[in-house]
Amino acid sequence: MDYESFFKSQIETLKQEGRYRVFADLARHAGKFPRATFRDSAGRERTITVWCSNDYLGMGQNPVVLDAMHKALDEVGAGAGGTRNISGTNHYHVLLERELADLHGKEGALLFTSGYVSNDAALGTLGKLLPNCIIYSDALNHNSMITGIRNSGAERHVFRHNDPEHLDQLLSAADPRRPKLVAFESVYSMDGDIAPIHAIVDVAKKHGALTYIDEVHAVGMYGPRGAGVAERDGAMQRIDIIEGTLGKAFGVQGGYITGSAALIDCVRSFAHGFIFSTSLAPVLAAGALASIRHLKSSQAERTRHQERAATLKRLFADAGLPVMDSVSHIVPVMVGDAKRCKRASDLLLERHNIYVQPINYPTVPRGAERLRFTPTPLHDDAMMAHLVASLRDVWDELELKLAA
Ligand code: PLP
Repeated sequence: MDYESFFKSQIETLKQEGRYRVFADLARHAGKFPRATFRDSAGRERTITVWCSNDYLGMGQNPVVLDAMHKALDEVGAGAGGTRNISGTNHYHVLLERELADLHGKEGALLFTSGYVSNDAALGTLGKLLPNCIIYSDALNHNSMITGIRNSGAERHVFRHNDPEHLDQLLSAADPRRPKLVAFESVYSMDGDIAPIHAIVDVAKKHGALTYIDEVHAVGMYGPRGAGVAERDGAMQRIDIIEGTLGKAFGVQGGYITGSAALIDCVRSFAHGFIFSTSLAPVLAAGALASIRHLKSSQAERTRHQERAATLKRLFADAGLPVMDSVSHIVPVMVGDAKRCKRASDLLLERHNIYVQPINYPTVPRGAERLRFTPTPLHDDAMMAHLVASLRDVWDELELKLAA
């Protein structure tokens, strides 16, 4: 086989469909977020404003987090030096797992190297371990959950997005004696909508199913201690497994699950993605620990974050831009065409020094391509005014649809 021609033809197809990903070469500067230095393909540098970061609260540059990481680096060095079982459990891991269990009101927690790995490993292990298990998965679940569920080999049913009645129908059709697990998210990060958590848990409990929630786009940002939407809605104790990331609102890196002591011990003992991988660098664990502790007591970041998101939605709507109906901190603006979505993003960067990545298929369905803005507490009024004027300019230039 001519391997090189094959690889090139695959890439050519992506380019023709407008789905080829070009990474923005950025240098973030601690203390200056959301400003960053962008380096173009000719090596020229300029200052831009980042509008699509998942460092939702700016904790990636918070002095509390940076101080903890500097201290840990000097104390324990760079890497963990092994898997958790073979010399790679550092005291920071132990402290962080305790902190996470406490955050979610669970008996135990388990760390992974990313949120992706935590979903893949936990769902893959639970689906395999529970004999003859059936997994029920929300139609818009993240790729990491879908992959874990597929890897488990368990029978799988997809329920309509955020639809407890459909879930009820599917569960009703199954043998009541078989073990079942319902997997869903709280905040869906592309549309910014939020699951009816209590209603889904009610249905799951009626049929004796375990519940698994991904709070990756909610931890740090919702609830009085930043434990997520389940905490905000008073549903945390009703959910069996809560999964989250340390890489978004907590500003560092890593993933985790929390649950009962026995369940956590099982995943710890059987999940290959946990067992056979070098553990998280202790410096990352130390930073995440400081971030979680800070956000457990400080409301300032959460309050300002919600205000900033509401303000941006209002400004977009006032300018006639087709801002989507999001009930969370995520502010998507519909374009509906892959090539023009990419072009809009390019024009914003080239002409206005605004960076927002186009969101195209397969992350969203074809025809639902969009720009997804994530205002943080550090995006001020002047940045917002500049963004709105620039977006209107691009909208007019590309003759994109305004709001109805
Ligand atoms: N779950 C959801 C819903 C996500 O959107 C993502 C990443 O964007 C992940 C899990 C993976 O988390 P991480 O970025 O920590 O790997």
